Amino acid sequence: MMEHKGKVLMEKYELGRLLGQGTFAKVYYARNLETSQSVAVKVIDKEKILKAELAEQTLTEVSVMRLIKHPNVLELYEVMATKTKIYFIMEYAKGGELFNKLAKGRLREERARKYFQQLISAVDFCHSRGVYHRDLKPENLLLDENGTLKVSDFGLSALSDSKKQDGLFHTTCGTPAYVAPEIIRGKGYDGAESDIWSCGVILYVLLAGYLPLHDSNLMAMYRKISKGDYAIPSWFSTDVRKLLTRILDPNPKTRVSLAKIMDNPWFKKRLNSKPIEAKTEVNESLPLDGDKALVPPKNDAINEPKRELIKPAKMNAFDIISLSTGFDLSGLFVENNQKGEAKFTTTLPASNIISKLEDIARELRLHVTKKERGMLKLERLEEGRKGGLSIDADIYELSSSFHLVEMKKAAGDTLEYHIMLKQDIRPALEDIVWAWQGEEPRLQHYH
Ligand code: ATP
Ligand code: MG
Repeated sequence: MMEHKGKVLMEKYELGRLLGQGTFAKVYYARNLETSQSVAVKVIDKEKILKAELAEQTLTEVSVMRLIKHPNVLELYEVMATKTKIYFIMEYAKGGELFNKLAKGRLREERARKYFQQLISAVDFCHSRGVYHRDLKPENLLLDENGTLKVSDFGLSALSDSKKQDGLFHTTCGTPAYVAPEIIRGKGYDGAESDIWSCGVILYVLLAGYLPLHDSNLMAMYRKISKGDYAIPSWFSTDVRKLLTRILDPNPKTRVSLAKIMDNPWFKKRLNSKPIEAKTEVNESLPLDGDKALVPPKNDAINEPKRELIKPAKMNAFDIISLSTGFDLSGLFVENNQKGEAKFTTTLPASNIISKLEDIARELRLHVTKKERGMLKLERLEEGRKGGLSIDADIYELSSSFHLVEMKKAAGDTLEYHIMLKQDIRPALEDIVWAWQGEEPRLQHYH
């Protein structure tokens, strides 16, 4: 359990104590050594998520989350990966879980409303950007040092989805208490509607101090949830009672919408008149370039004088996860492979990759020309069947310690190229390759 303590991630984050543990991950406190900023690092075991078969679509959401900023959404700063683990560097919520506040009993209506307003604001913001939570529950409602609500794990729903595909198995990982009836019924559901239900359960718990739909017998609990069989405590005000009944509607089609919730008189009471400044960092013209975290800061060069000038890859968290897990998510990054492109990731610095390619070229009697920014041309000068064979190798920086190398035929005979690639180049590269991309079954690297 303490395996991580004191460890420094990517020369940047010093790991501290364990903050908590979920189904797929452990969360540690950490400190950014450059800025002293406190962060939380969620460490995910790749094998676990491979087993859970993360869907392509939900992985995309991770990258969306990198671009979403809202005062009540826990920020995801950076995504990093090693051979066996994925690290999410997140905002640190110093106040811990909101529900610890309930240990002393239920909340007064004013307090509950304030948290509920913040929750709805976060959920609405993300929904408007097509991101659904699907796992809204107490463990994902955190507080910062000012007591502001921060919803965590938005866009990481893939991790919890697999638990929910089968409502029954889900219970081994936690309580189904916050799960919408339609999910339990297992006939498909809409992310927006089921998130609204979970918000209703959360509001109920804040006001009551206990769950609306609970039974020590699990089957009975499912039945209750499915029917929406709950009672409203006598101390709930008429206004909140009305609202809750509309939210906790077991029929998702007639359940109240977020727009209606935000227009509800109980909800609007004492709502900060100043709308929360929510900004999205999406830059329309550079959709994949927004992930600054994957590009090391400029002054990196000072510490690393020999560093090669390499193109930062236009990648986002999604791409890096898909690469690092060995998923083939063709179409998003990998166009198609008719040109015999070969791609691999490596943890070697660019200068080592270049010298490795130079060694291989020498061995194969290819002439090497270094072009600008991490591009190499490998050419056979004597004439081949269709003129001299020429191979381009491009090195992209995914993070300061993780590179992607793409090789493709620039000129010459395709068959000749394929043979050389298969018989000479690939075997020679094997000791620097971390994972080949886009062609092998993804489990190749994980047994
Ligand atoms: P699940 O496995 O369904 O995601 P979970 O949300 O409890 O369940 P994690 O997201 O791995 O699991 O988080 C584990 C615990 O770590 C949380 O319950 C919370 O108490 C703590 N935690 C998570 N993120 C942070 C954070 N950014 N700041 C402080 N504590 C956190
Ligand atoms: Mg969580």
